[in-house]
Amino acid sequence: MSVPRTIVVGGGLAGLSAAHTLLEHGKNVLLLDKMPSLGGNSVKASSGINGAGTAPQQALDIQDSVEVFFADTAASAGPDLARPALITALTANSAGAIAWLAGTFGVDLSVVSRLGGHTAARTHRDPGGAPGWTITSALMKRLTADTARAEIVKSARVVRLLEDAGSVVGVEYEAGGALVEARGTVVLATGGYAADFRPGGLLAQHRPELLPLSTTNGEHATGDGARLATALARPAGLCDLDQVQVHPTGFVDPARPDAKTKFLAAEALRGAGALLLDAHGARFVDEVGRRDVVTAAMQAAAGPVRLVLGTAAAEEVRSHCGFYASKGLMKRYADAAAFAADTGIPLESIRATFASYSSYASGAEMDPFARATFRNASYTAEEPLHVAIITPVVHYTMGGLAVDAHARVLTADSATPIPGLFAAGEVIGGVHGRNRLAGSSLLEAVVFGRLAGEGAAKA
Ligand SMILES: Cc1cc2nc3c(=O)[nH]c(=O)nc-3n(C[C@H](O)[C@H](O)[C@H](O)COP(=O)(O)OP(=O)(O)OC[C@H]3O[C@@H](n4cnc5c(N)ncnc54)[C@H](O)[C@@H]3O)c2cc1C
Repeated sequence: MSVPRTIVVGGGLAGLSAAHTLLEHGKNVLLLDKMPSLGGNSVKASSGINGAGTAPQQALDIQDSVEVFFADTAASAGPDLARPALITALTANSAGAIAWLAGTFGVDLSVVSRLGGHTAARTHRDPGGAPGWTITSALMKRLTADTARAEIVKSARVVRLLEDAGSVVGVEYEAGGALVEARGTVVLATGGYAADFRPGGLLAQHRPELLPLSTTNGEHATGDGARLATALARPAGLCDLDQVQVHPTGFVDPARPDAKTKFLAAEALRGAGALLLDAHGARFVDEVGRRDVVTAAMQAAAGPVRLVLGTAAAEEVRSHCGFYASKGLMKRYADAAAFAADTGIPLESIRATFASYSSYASGAEMDPFARATFRNASYTAEEPLHVAIITPVVHYTMGGLAVDAHARVLTADSATPIPGLFAAGEVIGGVHGRNRLAGSSLLEAVVFGRLAGEGAAKA
C-alpha cells in the first residue's frame, strides 16, 4: 500500500518545518511553491529566532523562562488581542524548536542577543549573522535530498483548495501553463501579505494609509493563503488583518531612494548598541524599545533619521555592516567630524549627543527616553562611525487565518476546525496580537510548522 502524501503549500521555514515533521511521522510530502526557488521571506531573516530556556542561553548563563517569554509576548500583543492559547503554544515550544534546529539539522544558534521588547536575551542566531538563510537552507538541503519521499515542485502556484463534503482534500495548482490537481491533507504555509500593494489587495482593504510605504518583503507575500481558505464553501475565519507591523529601520539606498522593496536594517544593529539620530544629530527615542513605539517616534522626528554605530557596536555586528556597506547602504566615517561634514549635522550636536549618552549609560544621569540597557555604550567623536539613513517600512503582517493551538484552520462561522486543512507561519493570524516581537516569526514558522505537520500526519 502506498504511503499517503500530504501537500505543503509554500517552501519558507513554516512549510519546510511542516514537511520535515511529516517525514518524521512516516508520511510522504508534496511541497509546492509558486516561486522559482524555495525560501520565501524566511531566507532574509537577519536578527534571529527566539527561545526561552534553551541550551545556548544556559551556556551563556542567561536567566529566562517560558513564563517571562509569555508575559513579554502578551504585553506586546496588547490586552485586547493577546490570545493565551496561541502564545502558550509559541513560547512553551520555543526551546524545543531551537533544540530541533540544532539537533536535527546541525544549525549553530549559539549567539544570543536581547532585542526590543524582550526582558531577557533570547534571540538566537548563527555566528555568521544570517540566521534566516542558515536555518532555512539547512532544511531545504535535507528535504531536497530526500527524493524518495519528498517531491518539490517550484513555480507551482496553488490557485484553489479542493473540497469534499466540508473537508479539504487537495489543491489545484498552475505549473508550466497547465492546471494540475493533487490530493491529500493540506498545510498552508504561504506567508503574509506585506507586499500585497495591489488595488483591492489586503493592504488596500485593511491599511490603505500604508500603501505609499516600501516593504522588506519578497514579491510572493501577497496573502494567497487567506484568499484560498476564504474561498471555501464554508470559509475559513480571518483575524487581525488590520494589524500590520511597520519596521522602523528600512535602509534608504542613496542610489534608489524610492525603491518599493528595501533592505531591512536588522534589529540586531540596535541590539548591538546603534543610536538613532534625527536631522539635528539628537536622539529622540529609546532605540531598543518596541518597534511600534520606535516607528511612531521616527515619524514624529525631524528627518532624515540616521542609524549610527560606534566602533564597539559595529564590531559586534561586523558581518552585517560589511554586507550593508557592500550594498552601498551604510557608510563608514573616520570620525564624527567626517560624519558632520558629509551630512551637514553640526559637529557640536553630535559631540553633545555622544557625551549625554555616555552619561546615561554610566548611570550618572537618567535617559530622558527611559532607556534602561546600554550595550557597547562608548561613543566618542574621535572613533570611526558606521552610518545609514533609515525609514519605516511595511515588514510583517500579524493578521491572517484563524487557527487553534494545534495549527488547525478554523471556520469563520463557528470557529471549528476545517477537516484536512492546517496552516503555519505568517499566513496565520492572532499569535502576536498588535505587535510581533523581533525573532518571534521564525519561531512561529518552526513551532506552528511542527504542529501543523504533526496534526496533518495524524489526520
Ligand atoms: C528582511 C526580513 C527580515 C526578517 N528578519 C526576521 C528575524 O530576524 N526574525 C524573525 O523571527 N522574523 C524575521 N522576519 C520575518 C520572517 O522572516 C517571516 O515572517 C517568516 O520567515 C515567514 O515564514 P513563512 O514560512 O510563513 O513564509 P515565507 O518564508 O515568506 O514563505 C512563504 C512561501 O510560500 C510561497 N507561496 C505563497 N503563495 C503561494 C501559492 N499560492 N502557491 C504556492 N506557493 C506559494 C512563497 O513563494 C514562499 O516561498 C523577517 C522578514 C523579512 C522580510
